[in-house]
This record gives sequence, structure tokens and C-alpha cells, in this order.
Amino acid sequence: MIKIIDGKKIAEEIKRELEKDILALAKKGVIPSLAVILVGEDNASLVYVKNKERVAKEIGINYRIIKLGDKISQEELEKVIEKLNQDKNIHGFLVQLPLPAHLDSQNILSKIDPAKDVDCFHPENVGRIFAGNPRFLPCTPAGIIELLKRNKIEIVGKKVVIIGRSNIVGKPLALMLLAENATVTICHSKTKDLKAETLQADILVSAVGKAGLIIADMVKKGATVIDVGMNRDNKNKLTGDVDFEEVSKIAGAITPVPGGVGPMTVVMLMRNVMIAVNN
Ligand code: NAD
Repeated sequence: MIKIIDGKKIAEEIKRELEKDILALAKKGVIPSLAVILVGEDNASLVYVKNKERVAKEIGINYRIIKLGDKISQEELEKVIEKLNQDKNIHGFLVQLPLPAHLDSQNILSKIDPAKDVDCFHPENVGRIFAGNPRFLPCTPAGIIELLKRNKIEIVGKKVVIIGRSNIVGKPLALMLLAENATVTICHSKTKDLKAETLQADILVSAVGKAGLIIADMVKKGATVIDVGMNRDNKNKLTGDVDFEEVSKIAGAITPVPGGVGPMTVVMLMRNVMIAVNN
């Protein structure tokens, strides 16, 4: 029988664990603090930022939002970052992406103090994942690995196929699964025969952003299917990359959208804030 991997339930479990750690810290007089820099008024970003605020407040993390106009210059934004780097009351912070086109995101991310870089996008922190000595783990890949482990889905020696090679999901996830002793293949928009690759997968991860990309005949019987995609259909309903109904008949385990990977990302951010407290 198909197992539905319930990200919402596991995210709740992790929140309760974090709450306990936060209470223990509070007894020592420390309240973990997270700041988020939001440039402009991108609608999706506003939703993500609100969600982070809700979860932070729910578990007892101090939350500060710094809203900046979309015309801000690179230098001005760097100054805001430097202020947060120096601020003893902020343990971790992030710059909500995407930034307006006139700003150089890579350069901005590299200005964040790596010890406060709770999104784990600073080149030093990315390099540490590569070297097998991570300080933080990037939130979405960390959430995926947590989903697999807490559902007792074996990773060691398994063939994992990841579709998507972004810096946020595909690439770091590949390195992290390699560290967990999986055999990893990364596919992307130029992959010649996607189906031939996906059919090899014991664990198939789709992080593309194309509804209906993964159909039943691309999935090996009994495979675990992790759907990272977040797409809106013509009724504005959230859907993943995977044809959930049909693939459910073939797969052994599957994440729904919504309620799979999504809820995990934000709790993994909160876990990084707890790591930042000790940095
Ligand atoms: P992206 O948008 O930067 O890149 C998409 C990737 O898909 C690229 O590497 C591209 O090569 C690949 N691709 C495009 N078309 C393809 C095709 N036809 N076949 C194979 N590969 C193809 O990636 P991203 O930022 O990782 O986002 C991917 C999806 O995951 C989006 O829907 C995004 O909204 C979602 N996402 C969800 C979460 C979450 O918390 N649930 C977090 C991050 C991203």
C-alpha cells in the first residue's frame, strides 16, 4: 500500500522538539532571534516571510522583519547586512530571495556573516557542505532528508535521482545525499532521456516547477517520490511536479503538495536559528 509522507505532521513534531530546546535556552536567559530582510513587495516573498514569522513566534523565536524599498542600492543593502552582522541581539538572519534585478544576489549573500547565515547560502557554508563539514544545512534539502529518515526510508546504497540543479535544492541535496551514502544522479533541462534516468530511481526527487512533469510510467514500482515543485494551476490551486493520483498507484511512498516538503522548509530554518545561537 502507498505510504503518504506527511510533511505537515513531521514539521509539527520538529516544532515541538524545538520548542523544548527554546524553553531550555530561555531558562538560561537566551531567546533565539531571527531577522529577515525583505526588499520590495514580491507577492510570493510576502507569503513566505509571513509564514516564517508565524512559525518563529509559535515556537518562541524572536522575529524581526526589515522591509526595504525595491530601489535600494547594493551599497545601502550591504550596510543593512553589516549592521545585522554586528547586532548581538540577532543570532541569525536571511535575505529573502529573489532580489530586484539591479541587485547582485550572489554578492549580497557573500556579505552575510557565515555564522549567522541561517539560509546556508554564503559561499563558505556552501563549501563546507561540499567538504563534508557543514555548519548549517540548507532548509529544503535538510527537510527532504528529515522526511526520509523519519519515515524510515533507507538512503544508504539507494539510487537517488534528483531532477533540478538549483543552488537552493538540487545541488546541495545531491551532496547531502552523497554524504548519506546514496548513489546520486542529477538531471536537468538538458538531460537527454529523463524517463530512462527516473526509472532507475529508488528515491526520485523532482525540484523543477513544472506541473505534470512526472507521470506514472517514469516511476519504478515501489519507489519513493519526493515532490518539491510548487506550481499554481489555472484556479490558483497549489500543485507539485508529480501527477499525484497516477504515480500513487506505482510508488511505495510519496509526498503530497501541499503538505509534503513545503512545511519542512520553514522548520529547518528554525533549526538553523538554534544552531546559530551556539555559533
Ligand atoms: P529553479 O527554478 O532554479 O530551476 C529549475 C530546475 O529544473 C533547473 O535546474 C532546470 O535545469 C530543471 N528543469 C527545467 N525544466 C526541466 C525539464 N523539462 N526536465 C528536467 N529538468 C528541468 O529550481 P528551484 O529554485 O530549485 O525550484 C524548483 C521548484 O521547487 C519550484 O517549483 C519551486 O517553487 C520549488 N521549491 C519548493 C520549495 C519548498 O519548500 N517546497 C523550496 C524551494 C523550491
